[in-house]
Amino acid sequence: MWIKEAANGLGLTVEVTKHLCHRVSPFQTIDIYDTVKTGRMMLLDGVIQLSEWDEFCYQEMMAHVPLMAHPAPENVLVIGGGDGGVLREVAKHSCVRRIDQCEIDEAVIQCSKEFLPSMACGYDDPRVHTFIGDGSEFIREHEAEYDVIIVDSTDPAGPGEPLFGEDFYRAMKRALRPGGVIASQSESIFLLPEIVRRLLKIAGTVFTHYGYGSILVPTYPTGMIGVCAASDARDVRVPVREPDAELSAKLRYYTPEIHRSCFTAPKFALAMTKGLNDE
Ligand code: SAM
Repeated sequence: MWIKEAANGLGLTVEVTKHLCHRVSPFQTIDIYDTVKTGRMMLLDGVIQLSEWDEFCYQEMMAHVPLMAHPAPENVLVIGGGDGGVLREVAKHSCVRRIDQCEIDEAVIQCSKEFLPSMACGYDDPRVHTFIGDGSEFIREHEAEYDVIIVDSTDPAGPGEPLFGEDFYRAMKRALRPGGVIASQSESIFLLPEIVRRLLKIAGTVFTHYGYGSILVPTYPTGMIGVCAASDARDVRVPVREPDAELSAKLRYYTPEIHRSCFTAPKFALAMTKGLNDE
C-alpha cells in the first residue's frame, strides 16, 4: 500500500504498512502511518510533517541553532511543534529554565502522545508549559520575556499563515529579552523560493542579523527545508557556545561545524538567501 503526498506541485510516495490514525480537528486532518522505510509518519492535511526515520535532522537544527547562538538561554518559547520533537531538543539544554509552547491544535498533541512517543516525550519535561491557541495572538501578549523563540509551524496556508507575516516578526521581536534569538521553519529553496525570499526580506527588515540555514530532511519534498534565524544582538550564523560532552552525546545531526556551514547557500540561491544587512 502506497500513500502519495501532493502539495505545491511536488510530493513523495511512501510505502505504508498500516493506517494508524485519521482525525479531523477544527484546523486540519491528522493522519499517522507505519511505513516500510521511514518509521511512523505524521501528515497534516495530507502534507508530511515528520517521520521517525529523519525527524532528528529538523528538530535538532530548529532547536540548537538558535539556542547555540545565544550565550545563556533561560526562557524559551516554541510556537507550533505539536508533535513535541522540538520541545525534546530544547529540554536537552540544562541552562533552560522554562519552556512555553503555544500550539493551535490540541489534537496534534494528543495524536503524538498516542502514536509518536519518541517525540511526545518532550512533554514529559517539567519545564514545559503548553498553551492551546494561535501563536500569532499569543505572541502579542508577551513582551521582553523570551531569550529564544522557535516557530515550528506548518506551511503558510491554513492555520500557519499568520506566522509568515511581518506583523508576526515584529511581535516576536517585542517578545524577546535583550540579546534574544528567533528561528522559524522557512521552507525549501527549491520548492517555495518566493516564500524563502519574502521571509528573509521580513527577517532582514525587522532584525539586524539573520540567515537562512539549510537542513537535510529526506522525507520533505526536495529533501531539504530551511531554518531562518535572526537576532538584533549578534550574527546567528556563528554559534557562541559548544555542546558539552553530555549534550553532544545526545545529538545526531547538530555540530558547531554544521551550524556554521548550513548558512552557506549554493550559488543559485545566493541572491535569494543573501543577508540584506550583509553589505
Ligand atoms: N516540521 C513540520 C513541518 O514543517 O513539516 C512542522 C511540524 S509541527 C507538527 C507544525 C505544528 O504547527 C502543527 O502541530 C500545527 O497545528 C501548528 N500550527 C500551525 N499554525 C499554528 C498557529 N497559528 N499557532 C500555533 N501553532 C500552529
